[in-house]
Order: sequence, then structure tokens, then C-alpha cells
Amino acid sequence: MADDDTILYSIPRSHVAHIVLNRVEARNAQDTAFLYALNDAFDRAAQDDDVKVIVLSANGPHFSSGHDLREPDGHGAMREHRTVGTWAGFGRPGIEAQFSREKEIYLGFCERWRNIPKPTIAAVHGKIIIGGLMLMWPCDIVIAADDTMFMDHSVAMGVGGAEFFMHPWELGVRKAKEMLFTADWMDANEAHRLGMVNHVVPRAELRDRAMAMADKIALKPLFALKLVKEAVNAAQDAQGRRGAIQTSFALHHLAHAHNMIAHGKLVDPTGLMGPMKTQAKAAE
Ligand code: ZN
Repeated sequence: MADDDTILYSIPRSHVAHIVLNRVEARNAQDTAFLYALNDAFDRAAQDDDVKVIVLSANGPHFSSGHDLREPDGHGAMREHRTVGTWAGFGRPGIEAQFSREKEIYLGFCERWRNIPKPTIAAVHGKIIIGGLMLMWPCDIVIAADDTMFMDHSVAMGVGGAEFFMHPWELGVRKAKEMLFTADWMDANEAHRLGMVNHVVPRAELRDRAMAMADKIALKPLFALKLVKEAVNAAQDAQGRRGAIQTSFALHHLAHAHNMIAHGKLVDPTGLMGPMKTQAKAAE
């Protein structure tokens, strides 16, 4: 577990594990240590046979502001952790190190968490931006506070969407394109209408409502829960999800390589100014 408590873990009621994002001062931006701590927490819940349901929520004003682009040495930080994938290559030159890193801590972790056989519930609130979506989407159920706002301005940063490219599956094809092309904010009610969230609840009731659903699920036999989750995930993968994700991940890294050549950075620096300034500049 993390020494600095950026991820909290508890068993607040029978058969329910509660994981809390707690890097509050950074708006739960995800650096390498944070993601490994979160992965450790998911592993701990997955391997505890007494846990039937996992609830993921966040402290602070926002669920997650995305990847921490200010981490000084993300590649060096990989050496401090026992990796879960076998790709390796984190210290290699060219785009190889970045591809290896993202294959482990972004796409790799998200697929891993999505495939935990136990039911997972994300209780989300506040702003959720690009990589923030990648902590929510791997969960089976999403309960959103009525103040939740979702946004992906990755295209303004010169890369087409995040590494766990679930946009078409979560939003439908047309709305996925609109979100990516415009970088407009989407509110909780619109996300609910599109099926990206299961329920919208008052902010003050968010954790209680998530725990109430967890309690209801925890009454069911764990093996049957695991089997039915596997069946639903298999149905989605039979529709081509896994292959589509691999294609988008390759295109994402084509964009990183392009940006390195064109701008000397993994992303187009114009987009780093933030969505508001980027849109103002585009309108000039
Ligand atoms: Zn990337």
C-alpha cells in the first residue's frame, strides 16, 4: 500500500471493500505511485475471499483530474514498483519506453481492473477529465452525484482519446465523436441518458447510495456474481471491444510519436493550456 495514504482501503461493512482516491490536493491526479497503490488495493480486494463487492470513490472536490502530467520522472518511477505486466522496456530509447509504460499503468491496469471478477461500483462526483474516466470506466456500475461533469480534451492535446479507449462503448458512436471533437463538458444527467452512468443521486447521498447497492449485491453468492460478470464482459468482447482498444492504443502512440517529432513533447503543448484557453485560441 502507499506510504502516503493517497489510496485508502477499508472494509466498512460485511463483504464490501471500499477504496478511496485520496490525493486530494492534486485533485486525484494520477502519478505512477498513485496508480500502483490503486492497483494494490484492487488486488487486495480481489484476493480476499470474504469481499464480494468493491466500491471505488474519491475524497476532495473532484473524482479525478486525469493523469498527472507534472510528474517529474514517470519512467524512473516505474523502477520503484514490481510491474504486473511482462512487456518491460521502461528504460528504452525512442517511443518504446512510453509505449511500455502506458501499456502497463494505463491500458494494462484498466483492463486488469475491468476483468476483476467481483462486482465493482464507482461512486463519482465533481470533475472527471480524460484519464479520470479511465478510473471510472473499468467499474461495472457507476453512480454519479448530480454535480458530476465529464470531459475529454485529448484531441486538443494532439492525441485521440485516452489509452483505455472506451468512449464508443460508453457513449455510443455519435456522442463519443462529439465529446472528442468538441471537448465540451457533459453533465451527469446527459451521461445517465446515454447509459454511461447507472444512477444520478444528490451529492450528499452518493456514498450511502453506493453502499446500499453494494449491500444488495453482497447478499448474492460470490461465485454466481463472478460467473455472470464474466458472461457480460465476454458479450462485450465478442462485439470486438478488445480488438478496437488495441487499435486505438496503437493510434494513440502514433500520436505521441508524432508530437515528439513535431513539438518535442508527447502532447501538443497548445492543449496543455487547458480546455478553456485552447478553445479560445481555436476561436481566434
Ligand atoms: Zn498516452
